[in-house]
Amino acid sequence: MAETLLRGADVVVTMDDAGTELARADVLIRDGVIAAVGQGLTTTGTSHNVAGCVVTPGLINTHHHLYQTLTRAVPGGQDALLFGWLRTLYPIWSRFGPEEMFVSAQVGLVELALSGCTLTADHLYLFPNGARLDDTIAAAGDIGLRFHPTRGAMSIGESSGGLPPDSLVEREDAILNDCIRVIDAFHDPRPGAMVRVGVAPCSPFSVSRDLMRDAALLARDKGVMLHTHLAENDEDVAYALAQFGCRPGQYAEDLGWTGADVWHAHCVKLDAAEIDLFARSGTGVAHCPCSNCRLGSGIAPVRAMLDAGVNVGLGIDGSASNDAGNLIAEARQAMLLQRVSLGADKMSARAALRLATRGGAAVLGRDDLGQIAVGKRADLAVWDVTGIESAGSWDAAALVLAGPVRVRELFVEGRQIVGDGRMLTVDIAALIARQNGLARALCS
Ligand SMILES: [Zn+2]
Repeated sequence: MAETLLRGADVVVTMDDAGTELARADVLIRDGVIAAVGQGLTTTGTSHNVAGCVVTPGLINTHHHLYQTLTRAVPGGQDALLFGWLRTLYPIWSRFGPEEMFVSAQVGLVELALSGCTLTADHLYLFPNGARLDDTIAAAGDIGLRFHPTRGAMSIGESSGGLPPDSLVEREDAILNDCIRVIDAFHDPRPGAMVRVGVAPCSPFSVSRDLMRDAALLARDKGVMLHTHLAENDEDVAYALAQFGCRPGQYAEDLGWTGADVWHAHCVKLDAAEIDLFARSGTGVAHCPCSNCRLGSGIAPVRAMLDAGVNVGLGIDGSASNDAGNLIAEARQAMLLQRVSLGADKMSARAALRLATRGGAAVLGRDDLGQIAVGKRADLAVWDVTGIESAGSWDAAALVLAGPVRVRELFVEGRQIVGDGRMLTVDIAALIARQNGLARALCS
């Protein structure tokens, strides 16, 4: 029986239904699960003094393209809208292979871990030169984060009227067969699962209607979740109207892409009827505030979604459209966007932190995560609030309003991944050197 005690936190932000925050409290972890929360707890196992810290549930990232850490700030894509940005990057991505996928994923995962993230989804939708979803799953296993990789796909290349080059698209039967392979090999439906696989054609503008429908049938047959990009910007909506004769929400509904086992990234341009559809059907949203700003896509109607009862989580989106990978910074950005759009009382810091924890857990179907409560998995972020960025604050909301933006300690399934602000599972200097070597080769 392995026990770890986090002792004497300034505040434990439980994120339970009542929003309980416990002052000068302890959290006891036993065998990867939260065994007790309160004051005066003891253990015969390992004890960590977390005085001067705020403890929160580990943050949950619901949308990412980890491979894109290798194409940050690419000059031709820095100031482009979505479609132009994609056309700039596709030729570079077509030169990736297994090593690029593995190393870039590790870089993205480390960034996430240091910013308090304990579970991330990933959307990998191109597999050039022998790359496989397996490469990213191996990367996450080494780093120690909980991982929901989704097997993405593109099937309509330029010669068929699509956006990606033909070299990056796959045959639809091969896509479905590989989805089955990775689900059978890696998906774990049990509580506490470290890996859950999803099915995720890239977007309505890069796969056929048939593949969207078949992917939904396959996912339901296998009991896994569905994910894609939807209604990201005005171009995206115009494409749906022109090609499908309907808005993105209608397209999704017609093809079986609504329900509690579905989550869509962005949804910046959902209208009131689509928000109602998502609420009624339990369809989730990955809100990606920094990416939406970076690509000038707009401000997602998150306040309206939450008021309607839509499950909303936060997403980094790719590191080529963010270009950072800091999840606590996304919570701050989500809060700021709703405020600049609607007013300062429309999203509190605590509400933003809830999106990053409970919201993400609900979107990804993880009722075993997202809060600090007895019986939940021990995914915990420990934030040191004795530093300069916190000086002068006395409320836990400062975590989103002021900082810090890096954790002091991070636990996943009770295992310590970050200690004293440093990764314990990987040599960061060696990883950076490896990533920069790959980047140099790509840009040469
Ligand atoms: Zn994306």
